[in-house]
Amino acid sequence: MSTPSFKADLHCHTNFSDGTDSPEELIQLAIDQGLSGLAITDHDTTASYERAHTYAQNHHFRLLPGVEFSSSYGKEPIHVLGYSFSIRNGGILQLCQRHQDRRKKRNRAILQNLCRMNILIDEEELYQLDQNYGTIGRPHIASLLIKKGVVKTMEEAFDKLLGEGKPAYDAGEPITLEETIQTIHNANGLAILAHPHLIKRQSVVRSISPLPFDGLEGYYARFPLDQTKRWTEMATKKNWLITGGSDYHGQTKPNNLLGSSWVEKELFESLFERAQKNNR
Ligand code: AMP
Ligand code: ZN
Ligand code: FE
Ligand code: FE
Repeated sequence: MSTPSFKADLHCHTNFSDGTDSPEELIQLAIDQGLSGLAITDHDTTASYERAHTYAQNHHFRLLPGVEFSSSYGKEPIHVLGYSFSIRNGGILQLCQRHQDRRKKRNRAILQNLCRMNILIDEEELYQLDQNYGTIGRPHIASLLIKKGVVKTMEEAFDKLLGEGKPAYDAGEPITLEETIQTIHNANGLAILAHPHLIKRQSVVRSISPLPFDGLEGYYARFPLDQTKRWTEMATKKNWLITGGSDYHGQTKPNNLLGSSWVEKELFESLFERAQKNNR
């Protein structure tokens, strides 16, 4: 199969959440790699967009408004990608703010859990990592655990301490999947089920599939072919959109290379047009 000339990566993070590239560095990297479009999908914030939008416009590069919301379905954490919404929509901004408040409490609970294990990180040290008033979460805590020599790698930090069900884990206040989808729809955006292969229980996949998603992420960084087949078949059956992205995080996830998954021209242009209408 030949490499398509048009590729748009719809899933990547900047240092407004747990990526390591600034918005400008990320867009420049996309341009250097010959991508034709990008959606920045920071966790629970759209704050990078203003700077990213300016840089993209100055370089005649097409940037799609995006976000990756953390949500809960019962005990199961589910990530929802939002695209093409109105960037100034009050409901989206309010949901981002709720997540910031939720994360403040949750980070505090995780640090307290670590403290009980005699692993001391103070909040100030954690929030010093945030240059942008963006989203701080477990990968930032993991980076401090590495810096202090408690663990050697991100994986080890999650496997031993921070992952679901591990001793320092805290889920935080749940914000439901249903509410998250509704908020994206209220902003005339599209709600896409992110990396569905990470949902551990098949009963959860079955229970959430009647919800009003607009699509799922059927192409994902380093997806084996059988995964792509499974999820694209499900999307086709449901008449959902099939999106793709790398989940690029810079150095936080060095194996997720920008542009390693993408969407083609037709889908990108329809998402981009929808965004332009919503943001006029
Ligand atoms: P949080 O948003 O604070 O819940 O942290 C979620 C972030 O941590 C996401 O970007 C995940 O990709 C990352 N993450 C989750 N599990 C792991 C893991 N085992 N190793 C490395 N990163 C992980
Ligand atoms: Zn992340
Ligand atoms: Fe995610
Ligand atoms: Fe992501």
